[in-house]
Amino acid sequence: MVEMRKPIPVAEAVSQVMGHVHQLGTESISMEQSVGRILAEPIVARHSVPPFDRSPYDGFAIRAKDSIGASGEHRVPFTVIGEIGAGYVGEQPVGPHEAYRIMTGAQMPEGADAVVMFEQTVEAAESFTVRKPFEPGENVSFKGEDAADGESLIATGTLIHAGTIALLATFGYAKVLVYRQPVVGILSTGTELLDVSDDLAPGKIRNSNGPMVKAQLQRLGVPFKSYGTSSDDLDACTEVIARALQETDALITTGGVSVGDFDHLPAIYERLGATVLFNKVAMRPGSVTTVAVLQDKFLFGLSGNPSACFTGFELFARPALLSMMGSTEPYLPYLKAQLAEDFTKPNPFTRFVRAVWKMSANGLTVAPAGFNKSNAVSSIAKGNCLIVLPSGTRGYAKGDEVDLLLIGAEQGAEDWVL
Ligand code: AMP
Ligand code: MG
Repeated sequence: MVEMRKPIPVAEAVSQVMGHVHQLGTESISMEQSVGRILAEPIVARHSVPPFDRSPYDGFAIRAKDSIGASGEHRVPFTVIGEIGAGYVGEQPVGPHEAYRIMTGAQMPEGADAVVMFEQTVEAAESFTVRKPFEPGENVSFKGEDAADGESLIATGTLIHAGTIALLATFGYAKVLVYRQPVVGILSTGTELLDVSDDLAPGKIRNSNGPMVKAQLQRLGVPFKSYGTSSDDLDACTEVIARALQETDALITTGGVSVGDFDHLPAIYERLGATVLFNKVAMRPGSVTTVAVLQDKFLFGLSGNPSACFTGFELFARPALLSMMGSTEPYLPYLKAQLAEDFTKPNPFTRFVRAVWKMSANGLTVAPAGFNKSNAVSSIAKGNCLIVLPSGTRGYAKGDEVDLLLIGAEQGAEDWVL
């Protein structure tokens, strides 16, 4: 008799997974290696930025009060007493009607409190005149205006990206404390599966889920260990999974979680003594997505259907792994957009439609990425987001506002160029 499974709502499934996240401790690594890792310490300003008052332009550093009364009819003269390039400091204080030639980034000389840009002067050999008065502080970049000494700038749990690296370097964080990363095992189950370099054979297909999941992990910067493919053989599959669990922090399997005669994952969870958190989610695709835990380790049982596999990873494995890595924002970024075409199918379960978002004259629009069944592979490649249509809805029309989840946006069209 076919086992009856009770579907749980997507949000409940996500929260069950997130409730079982265990972090893996921290490690100190070099800044150079830290891109994509999660901060396990806040970035605190170790000094002011800028560390000294400096010039934001190429020009002349003056005492503002010497420019009082300057106008087109009454140009005020200054004598140039030296030059300060970035990295140098002025040797003497600036006196009445004196000025230093100063370059962008150079420290303001003593006594000076304003910078006159070259364009604002008429220059002669060792002097210049100005035609307007300057305020104290005008054209000066002040010590600490960007960051004050001791200020906590970036919180623990934040992803380190290019901008974060700039900040780490600014403050001399040659080493940075980050959360340890899980090593994730990947196993694709299915007797029908061939390798990418194999020729097609009767009844067989190439394993696309394994490489896809690896790529999804790579996008998160999560290390993985591949266990290749396993045929639908209960004992053999159990053996590989038991070994993988010894060697990794979490395991992602694809296929074999449904109720078919050769879907062995439910029996394997039972044999291993894993606790199944859920084995049916009220979503399409991927309603058979199963998540189990064994001794603090996740077993993500993703559907073999490519679109379902992809979606199951993004909805459940992604936030769990990012959270294990210490991220405080592990969920897919979410936006609202206008549907670019009708979507008439009813949605008895929450539906995730592979789709393409783009900016149009009317704002952000989103259109399904083509063939959109759970076994589709082409629309995963074409899509750059997932439209989310809540369960119990039907008949979406062009122009309706829908939710969309962004998937790794590394590319952009030429619609916007300077
Ligand atoms: P399953 O979840 O094992 O019932 O598989 C569902 C469907 O996905 C079947 O049509 C399988 O042939 C297909 N499938 C399973 N595993 C993979 C895989 N690794 N790559 C591509 N398709 C797969
Ligand atoms: Mg199968």
